Amino acid sequence: MARHGMLRARPHELLPGTLRVISVRMNYLPPNASFASTLKNPNLGYISRYALGRDYHKLLRQRLKKLGEMIQDAYGEFSFRPFVDSAPIMERPLAAKAGLGWVGKHSLILNHDSGSWFFLGELLVDIPLPIDAPQEEQCGRCVACMTTCPTNAIIEPYVVDANRCISYLTIELEGSIPEELRPLMGNRIYGCDDCQMICPWNRFSQITDETDFHPRSALHATDLQTLFSWSEEKFLRITEGSPIRRIGYSRWLRNIAVALGNAPYQEAVIIALRSKLGHSPLLDEHIEWAIEQQLKHRADHTIEVQTSQQKRLIRAVEKGLPRDA
Ligand code: SF4
Ligand code: SF4
Repeated sequence: MARHGMLRARPHELLPGTLRVISVRMNYLPPNASFASTLKNPNLGYISRYALGRDYHKLLRQRLKKLGEMIQDAYGEFSFRPFVDSAPIMERPLAAKAGLGWVGKHSLILNHDSGSWFFLGELLVDIPLPIDAPQEEQCGRCVACMTTCPTNAIIEPYVVDANRCISYLTIELEGSIPEELRPLMGNRIYGCDDCQMICPWNRFSQITDETDFHPRSALHATDLQTLFSWSEEKFLRITEGSPIRRIGYSRWLRNIAVALGNAPYQEAVIIALRSKLGHSPLLDEHIEWAIEQQLKHRADHTIEVQTSQQKRLIRAVEKGLPRDA
């Protein structure tokens, strides 16, 4: 954000002459999301539902380009430029202004017909299209996302402290994950969906029509030990075309090491953790922490591996609020 400065607020600097931004959304919730069963089992790896299939950037950009060409066919020549998370654009405020939904207290766009399981994209155009009306904010007095967040990252309505958010910690953060947050991450190894999962508006979410976003079997509800055993070559092969690939093998192992530290005690887990020692100082530090946790679980006979927030969330999802697709 610092690098791009005010460019975010000035789309005309990305496409000279920009007069309108067409904001679009594409559903990504797969038909077999199985939130509760994956989160409930601490031996499985939970991956954010947007990342179980193919990376969305290319697909959505191609569709936006096609949309621009279709408008050109109908309207005549004009300039347009598609963006999907690829340039400094304030996509959520723009989507809210365009009537795609309102910004929920978890800071994501939320729609009363479709919940929040969708990607956003923008088409900048230099033609004076009519302007849509925004949707009314409908969070009301609900604070479910704030009280459910496992790391208390939503520090006030509409404000997420990225340094505490599991999505940031598992995807963006390159270095060491703060120790005090590791036990709260549970089995989430790439992203986190809790604040969306608990949101009552997601009862109205739509299952995606895009088979590209359907889960790859090797990534969906897979045993943590199996995921941790992959070689780098296997990681690269399985994550080809997937957003997960961009975190690289070291961060992938780092995240799984934390989840293995949070899993119930098993001698096999300790053996698996030790087998990856020596890969990198960053990973070694997380493995040593995870082994310590495992030994603590053994000493305490700890079987309690879920936080109260997580238990509440699982109960709510199992009751069908919101839908466990
Ligand atoms: S993604 Fe997870 S950690 Fe981040 S704000 Fe939402 S519930 Fe909290
Ligand atoms: S859980 Fe409640 S407060 Fe949070 S975004 Fe959904 S409706 Fe708004």
